[in-house]
This record gives sequence, structure tokens and C-alpha cells, in this order.
Amino acid sequence: MPRQILVTSALPYANGPIHIGHLVEYIQTDIWVRFQKLCGNRCLYFCADDTHGTAIMIGARNAGITPEELISKVHGEHHNDFKGFGIEFDNYYSTHSPENRELSERIFNALNKAGSIARRSVEQSYCNNCRMFLPDRYIRGTCPRCKAQDQYGDSCEVCSGTHNPTELIEPRCANCGNPPVRKQSEHYFFKLADYEQQLKELIAKGYTQQSVANKLDEWFSTGLRDWDISRDGPYFGFKIPGEDDKYFYVWLDAPIGYMASMKNYCDANGMDFEQVWNGDDWELYHFIGKDIMYFHALFWPAMLMGSGFRSANKLFIHGFLTVNGEKMSKSRGTFIKAATYLEHLDPEYLRYYYASKLTPTVEDIDLSTEDFIGKVNSDLVGNFANLASRSGPMLAKQLDSRLGQLDEQGRRLIGKLTAAKEQIRSDYEVLNYASAVRTITALADEANRYVEQNQPWKTIKSDLEQTRTTLTAVINAVRILAIYLKPILPDFAAKVEKFINVETLHLDDVDTVLENHTINKFERLFERVDEKKVNAMIEESKESKAQSAPKADVEPIAPEITIDDFAKVDLRIAKVADAQPVEGADKLLALKLDLGGIEKNVFAGIAQAYKPEELVGKMVVCVANLAPRKMKFGTSEGMILAAGPGGSEIFMLTVDEGAKPGQRVK
Ligand SMILES: [Zn+2]
Ligand SMILES: [Zn+2]
Repeated sequence: MPRQILVTSALPYANGPIHIGHLVEYIQTDIWVRFQKLCGNRCLYFCADDTHGTAIMIGARNAGITPEELISKVHGEHHNDFKGFGIEFDNYYSTHSPENRELSERIFNALNKAGSIARRSVEQSYCNNCRMFLPDRYIRGTCPRCKAQDQYGDSCEVCSGTHNPTELIEPRCANCGNPPVRKQSEHYFFKLADYEQQLKELIAKGYTQQSVANKLDEWFSTGLRDWDISRDGPYFGFKIPGEDDKYFYVWLDAPIGYMASMKNYCDANGMDFEQVWNGDDWELYHFIGKDIMYFHALFWPAMLMGSGFRSANKLFIHGFLTVNGEKMSKSRGTFIKAATYLEHLDPEYLRYYYASKLTPTVEDIDLSTEDFIGKVNSDLVGNFANLASRSGPMLAKQLDSRLGQLDEQGRRLIGKLTAAKEQIRSDYEVLNYASAVRTITALADEANRYVEQNQPWKTIKSDLEQTRTTLTAVINAVRILAIYLKPILPDFAAKVEKFINVETLHLDDVDTVLENHTINKFERLFERVDEKKVNAMIEESKESKAQSAPKADVEPIAPEITIDDFAKVDLRIAKVADAQPVEGADKLLALKLDLGGIEKNVFAGIAQAYKPEELVGKMVVCVANLAPRKMKFGTSEGMILAAGPGGSEIFMLTVDEGAKPGQRVK
């Protein structure tokens, strides 16, 4: 009976392009899915863009578009990047979908009913100017430990220390630069600890690799904490049922996106999603990176358990990518986007290189550019493609493109290749692609040695039929190697299928041989990697100084308001009747403003930019209905309008001649 298998890769965030670091996971998963199909199993591969959260909202605002426009643009880009690398999803969907909203609400309501949701008030950083709560990443300030400036609210990139946003020195909103305040808000929490026993049982059943299970033990022993699953508006996401301005935290609905992508596929293909997800007919596997294992090993299965859904059979967790032994870097040009790679190099080079490095462990893998060039040229070109190019053209030109029959020596060679099937199958199954690749290259070496020994380029001059027998063995070797390599190199395998003139090959086809068969014209299978192309790709990936320089000093536009919002602000023309310095406050001036008979006292922080005597008689614009503010020196009853960063760089708005004090500015 063929197995039925559901597979997911982690959902890429919809705020940027796919790069070669992401591709480790998608290539790893795609190889596994293609391997299952090669075995004759029914395997469906699902993914989606992860589209919610503050970063998307702010990214869209800064680009001057709606979040929906942003995620739709990125969805198209991601789709092309994956397609370019031969990543074959059965459905690539979006978490901003009706299916995901419905499933998120359903799971939340079920958890709530099960008593697994708590509500309590939390204090958080809030920007009065942006009118939003600030995630830790949106607060910048000086590191409390090493005093490095411009660090995030949760961690320091200089000393690698972690901290609370409240510990930052001179914290400010990353969006507008104003200092945040602390503000209370009620949040929803998922009581993860309720599921501790069930989670331990799941993990004992082999839910993760062993090295990960050990890490999870540490988390269990430090205690499972409640998880904050809500965010206050403004937020781009799904509203929490029964709330006006509270949303599901992006991490709540992101993994539910796996289900939504499947539901969308099932509905379109006449399948029953409930039966597929919850029945016994389908196995389920999630491929993820080690950075998100807390979510996938604890929160996600607990959410499913609490809402009556089954958990995955297993998580397959991989490590990160380094390039030439270091973290990917924009300045070194090793932060290579999928689209940039595709402009320069064949995607199957990278699929093969990653496969040659990937094992079932969570160890990082390294892409060494020198090793990459060496491996592609020696294995893909010198070994696999060479075997075909030494046999195909000769058969076509001098032997009517016809295979003969295997002799004893040929059968021995093919026997060796066939015998490796179970080893290769089990290597693929347990994600030991590196081992599978080693076996396959050794078999190709063996086949190339057979060619050397039999020297068809010599025998063709004297014994056509002996040469046909030799080349029949070589073509059969090419066919078997193509089957073994098919999950890694689908394009290569498709070209071989076409050239040797056979239908779509499956794993069990290695048990049969091709004899007395006509092949097609040979086409080149791989070009050598040109080092110049690799260097050009790296050059193009280097962030130029212009790109990496800080953006122009223009503050992003504040959240949209309506004309009615604006009408609430009563702006009036005011004449400065008097201006005095304020003792003990060298930034302030005490202004008396005349608003056409109404007098207002205003303290303005403009003393370093304007002298009192140059102000008297000036016409300015005043916010007339601002709530009075008690200050140390008296009460300020309004505000005058000015621009500029502060200090001596403050520029008051003045008024064209003719305007009268008290007139409203509209
Ligand atoms: Zn620091
Ligand atoms: Zn702000």
C-alpha cells in the first residue's frame, strides 16, 4: 500500500525576498517530497506566506502601500523564487486567507472553552505619537551593559546581551524617535503548562530528533510559561472574536497557516480536510529550522491538542547556513537572494551542493564557494554528465541509436548499481542526503571506470557490436543514476528520461534493464561552473555604500486619520504679545499669545532657536484646544507649531500677511 504523506516547510515572512539561507529548508523538504513520489507514495507539500504582524504593517506604511498590497507583491516574488529552484508545492497559500481566519478562531474558541486561555493586564511600551504598542524590536536605545547606541529593545548586537526594553538608556520609538511611555493593556495568554504531560508523551514517542528532545528537557525543567497570544491595534492580523481592537499575535495564526493551505487545497480537490488532517490515513511532517523549534515543539502541538486536532508525526529540524565559514553577510556579498543566484547560476548546482551536505542532524551547513565550484565540476559535470556524454553521441552517430543487450560484465556493473537501492532509499527516508550522494557518486565512479576499461572510442573502429554491448551497460547505468538523483536533480533526470527515451522513472525501475531500445538525440546535461559567474553573483550581492547608508532623515508618515480626526484639532492664528525667558529652564520661553481677544499662556521649547525680543509681534499658528498641561513653572494652555529636530534647529510656522489673530486654520 502506498503511504499518504502531508509535508510542510516553515512559512517565509512576507516582508522580504527568499535568500540562499531560506533555501536550505525548501530544498531539503522538496527533495524528501520528490523522493516519496519516486517511491510511489502519495505526498502533498504545503506552504504559505506568513503575512501578519507589526513588521508587515510598518513595512507597508513606509512603502506608502496597504499591507494587502505588500503581501500580494511579496507572494508573487516568493512564488517565482521557489519555482526557479524547482521547489514544487502542491499549494502555496497565504495566512491572510478566509480559511486561516476561520481555523484560527475555531482553535482559539476551543482553547478558550477548554479553559486554556487566561486574560490579564500587562504593562508595555507605547508610543503616544504613533499611537501603538511597540514590540521590543521597535524600541531602540543605548545598551544598558556596553552602552552601545542604537540597539534593539530586547538585545544588543554589540555585546550580544539581552535585556528588557525598560532597561534601555534613552529608549525611543524606532518608527518616530519619540520616547515611549509605559501603558497597561489586557492580553490573552495560552496556558502552555496545562499541556506539559501530553507534550512530554509526544516527545517521548519520537516527535523530534534526539538532540532536540534533550534541549526540550531543559525547557521543561525551567518551567513552561504562559504565552501572550494577543496584540493591541493597530495591528495587521485577525481580530480576536468578541474584541474591537485586539488581534491574534502573528505567531498564533502562522502555524495554523499549514492547515489553511491544506484546507484550501482539499476544498479545491474534492477532499475532506477534517478527514485528511484528523483521520489515520495520512502521515504529517513539518520541516523547520532550529530557530523556531520552541514554537513547533511546544506551542503548536499544545494548541492542536487543546482544540481537538492531531499533531504531526514528527518535526524535521535543520541547522543554519554559513557561507565560507561565516554568517551570511551583506557586506561580503554572501547574503545572496534567490533571484540574484538565478541570474548567474543553474539552480540544480545549489540543490546538489546542499544535498551533499545535509544530514539528519541540526548542525549548521557551510557553503564554501571553492568547494561548491569543485563539487559541481567534478561530480555533476565530470562524473554524472560525463557518463552520458561518453555514450549517447556515439550510439546516435555510429550505432543507429539502438541499445543491444547486456553481457556478463555489463550485468555485473548494473547489479552493483541496483544493489544500492535499499541503502539509498533508507538514506533519503531519514534525511541523510549526504550519505545518499556519497553512495551515488561512488556508483558513478564505478560506471566511469567501466567505460575506461572497455574503451568504446577504440572498439568502435573495429567491433561495432561489442561497442553496442558496452554502451548498453553505460546507458543503463545512466538511467539508474538518474533515478537515484531524481529527487535532488529533477531537471537533470527529466533530460535523461527524454534522451534515453523512457517514461517518467520511479525507484522500482532500477530493478529492470533497458535492452534492444532506441534512444533519442543527446543533449548537454550540465555546463561547468565558471568561477567568474560565482564572483559576479557575489559582487552583485554586496550591499553598496549607497544602499547601506542610513535612509534619508525623513520621519515616516503617521497612521492615517480621517478629515474628522483632523477637525478635532483647533488651529488658530496667534500674535505673540509677550515672550520671556524661564528661569531654571534654558530651553523654554514663556509666551503670551493673543488669539483675537482670547489670551493663552504657552511654554514653548524654542529658547535655543529664538530670542524673546525677536518674537514679539510675530504671527504664529497655535493649537488652541490642547488640554492644559501643568508644568513646574506654570500651566501651558496651548502649543505653537514648529518643525525641526530640536535645539537651535527649530523653525516656527509663520503666517502670510493679512491673516488676523483668532482666525481658524483649516
Ligand atoms: Zn551591549
Ligand atoms: Zn513612534
